[in-house]
Amino acid sequence: MDHFQYRDGQLYCENLSVAALAEKFGTPLYIYSQATIVGVLKSLQTAFAELNPLVCYSVKANSNLSILKVMQEAGSGFDVVSGGELYRVQKSGGQPGRTVFAGVGKTDEEIAAGLNAGVLMFNVESEAELDAIVRVAKNLGKVAPVALRVNPDVDPKTHRYISTGKKESKFGMDIDRSLALGQAIVGNPNVSMIGVHMHIGSQITTTEPYAGAAGKAVTLIAQFREMGHPISWFNMGGGFGINYRGNEAKAIEEFAKVIVPVIKPTGCHIAMEPGRVIAGNSGILVSRVLYTKQSGEKRFLIQDAAMNDLIRPALYESFHRIWPVSVPKGFPAPPADYEAEIEGTQHWDVVGPVCESGDFLAKDRSLPALDRGDLIAVFSAGAYGMVMSSNYNTRPRAAEILVDGDTARLARRRETYEDLVEQELAAIGAPGALG
Ligand SMILES: *Cc1c(COP(=O)(O)O)cnc(C)c1O
Repeated sequence: MDHFQYRDGQLYCENLSVAALAEKFGTPLYIYSQATIVGVLKSLQTAFAELNPLVCYSVKANSNLSILKVMQEAGSGFDVVSGGELYRVQKSGGQPGRTVFAGVGKTDEEIAAGLNAGVLMFNVESEAELDAIVRVAKNLGKVAPVALRVNPDVDPKTHRYISTGKKESKFGMDIDRSLALGQAIVGNPNVSMIGVHMHIGSQITTTEPYAGAAGKAVTLIAQFREMGHPISWFNMGGGFGINYRGNEAKAIEEFAKVIVPVIKPTGCHIAMEPGRVIAGNSGILVSRVLYTKQSGEKRFLIQDAAMNDLIRPALYESFHRIWPVSVPKGFPAPPADYEAEIEGTQHWDVVGPVCESGDFLAKDRSLPALDRGDLIAVFSAGAYGMVMSSNYNTRPRAAEILVDGDTARLARRRETYEDLVEQELAAIGAPGALG
C-alpha cells in the first residue's frame, strides 16, 4: 500500500496536496513518501523475520541522502555498487558494517575504501576480482570478508536488460566456477568467505525463480562449508517486482513463503538487496502540461518532464501509470485499469521537450482532455528515476522532496543553469570562473 491517494479527485502524498507541492516547489518534481518507504522496509523485515534478515537497501535504486537517512534510521543496511555509493552511505550516517559491496567492476581504490570502511562483505563477481581483493587486503594487512556471486542459471522472466541470473550473464559466475574458486581460496589468510550471493534480476513478479535459486544455494552452502568456509550468510540479492500497472507483482509475503523454509535449515542469516520494491512506489514524478498538439491521427501531450528526468520508458519500454493530479469532473480517480478504455478519454502520446523521438513517458495513453498548466502524475517513479537522470539538452535536474505526514522537505534543490556550466567555465576563461 502506498501513500499516494486521491481524495475528492485531488491527489495527495500522505497528508499533503500534490498540486500545492507542485505550486511551491515547481515542476518537474519528484515527490517521495516516507511512510511508504518505511512501510515496505517493515514488511520485508516481518516477512523474513524467521531468518533474522539484514535488509541491505540497494542504493542504486534511489540514492538521495534523505532517503538513505530514513532507511538507516529505520534499521536498514545498504547494498552499494560503487565507491560513490559507499560515500553516500557514510555521508547519510549509514553503517559500513551493515553494507555489502557489489558491482562487476570494482577498482583497487574502491576495494580499499570498502576494506577501510569495514563493509560487511564484498560480493565477488569473478576470479580476477577476487585476486584484486586479496592483493589489496594483503597490502592493507586486512582480511576481506567475501561472498561469491553465483548465477544459479534460473530464468527470472523479466526484461532482458535487467535479467542477470542466467549462465550467459556478465554478472557473477556459474556454479562450477564458484566451486573451483571456493576450493582455490581455502586457507588464504587475506580472505574469509562468509557468504553466498545470488541476484537473479530485477522486476521479478513470480516466486518460482527465487525458489529455484534458493534450492541451488542450499546445496552450494553445504559444499562450501565442507571445504571449510565459514558460510553464515545467504544473500539473495534484490529483484522483487512491483505493481507498475495494477496487480502484476506477487506480495512480499509470497516471496518469503518460498524462500524462508528452504534457507532455514542452513542456519544462515539472510541478507537481501531490495531496491525497486522499496523506492519504486514510494515516489511519483509530477509535471505540468505545456502544449497539446495534433499531427494527423496522433495527439501529443507535451509536458515539462522528459527522458532526462525519467528514462525508463525510453530505455526499457516500461509502463508507468499516468493520471491528472486534479481529476476533471466525471472521471474516475484513480481509474480501475489504466490500460483499459476509459470513458470520455482520448489517446495521447505523453512526450517531453527533449529533441529525440525516444523522449516519451507513455504512448497511446487514455487520458482526459488536458490543457496548458494542468498537472499530471507519473506513478511508480521512485526507483531508477532520478538516479538515471541527466542534463541532456542542458536541462537542470528536477527538485526532489520528501514528505512525512504533514511536512515536506526539499531533499535536493532544483539545479540551476550555473550548476550546469560550473565545471566548464574555467576552460574558456569566463569571468566568474572558479578555477
Ligand atoms: C540492482 C541490484 C539490486 C537491486 O535490484 P532491485 O530490482 O531494485 O531490487 C540488488 N543487488 C544487486 C547486486 C544489484 O545489481
